[in-house]
Amino acid sequence: MTQRPSAPLPLHRLTVTAVRPVTPRMRRVTLGGAGLDGFALAGPDQQVKLFFPRPGQAEPVLPAPGPGDDAMRWYGAYAALPEADRPWMRSYTLRAHDPVAGTVDVDFHLHGDAEDEGPATRWARSARPGDALGMFGPSAAFAVPVDPGAGDWTLLYADACALPALATVVAALPPGQRALAYLQLPDPDEEQPLPTAGDLTVRLLRDGDSAAGAVRADRLPPGRPYVWLAGEASAVRGLRRHLVEERGVDRRSVHFTGYWRRRLAQDDAPTPEDLAEARERLSLG
Ligand SMILES: Cc1cc2nc3c(=O)[nH]c(=O)nc-3n(C[C@H](O)[C@H](O)[C@H](O)COP(=O)(O)OP(=O)(O)OC[C@H]3O[C@@H](n4cnc5c(N)ncnc54)[C@H](O)[C@@H]3O)c2cc1C
Repeated sequence: MTQRPSAPLPLHRLTVTAVRPVTPRMRRVTLGGAGLDGFALAGPDQQVKLFFPRPGQAEPVLPAPGPGDDAMRWYGAYAALPEADRPWMRSYTLRAHDPVAGTVDVDFHLHGDAEDEGPATRWARSARPGDALGMFGPSAAFAVPVDPGAGDWTLLYADACALPALATVVAALPPGQRALAYLQLPDPDEEQPLPTAGDLTVRLLRDGDSAAGAVRADRLPPGRPYVWLAGEASAVRGLRRHLVEERGVDRRSVHFTGYWRRRLAQDDAPTPEDLAEARERLSLG
């Protein structure tokens, strides 16, 4: 009997090749590795899981999934690692890919200070060329495709840690596509140029402003929007609720992701709101 070849999993060991500041609180880390040969980005908003070494480890222990067709088997192998060895895992976005150099860029927002930052931010703050990191993805098995030109116009929201993803979405706007982006940044120094072929208007919000309140107060362009929202989970939820329930936006046109939760680390258990959101996302197919 012939055995079916198992689907290869996009699991990479990468090395830092360069680090540079983008803004005072955004650090760009360039990563390379043999596994990136032949790599290509499939579109904007390409999400990955990064694996960070535990204290005392020079590099993260990576999961070693066996063969098979189950795209989730990498997670089983990750969860099966002894806790003391298991790397920290956090979600990030590929900001750019350089096919000639064979590298990808990840922009890390350095949130918090030394007392309340998490392991990913701590790692990024001190990353140096030669440091090792693990990466799973991007994987079509988990991604919801983003099509920023799918509506009559485009509405975007991002906070500081979602700005790298928003920049890739804005860069993918079709020429002339009208777009309105609400950016919630801790301070004006965190603004970045956002190259695009679209007709983009940016509205700046500060930390502490209500994102839903800001959108509610605005007159929005006419027509059917495609909406992309990413940032702190309750801000994203509030915005989505406003758009769907008060503005009548078709829920299937709203792409939304909670990137982080106040006072909770990414590996803390889901809250009832997180679970409700996950069910909603599944129901949208
Ligand atoms: C799909 C996806 C893509 C993402 N892409 C990026 C990206 O490209 N760049 C990027 O910088 N981040 C990105 N994020 C957000 C990032 O994964 C989280 O901020 C993550 O929690 C950081 O891990 P940590 O180890 O620093 O903090 P954790 O250990 O997860 O949390 C520690 C503490 O920090 C707080 N915290 C976590 N994140 C933030 C934040 N952004 N602002 C303020 N406080 C915070 C938590 O509430 C907690 O109290 C993405 C998230 C998702 C889901």
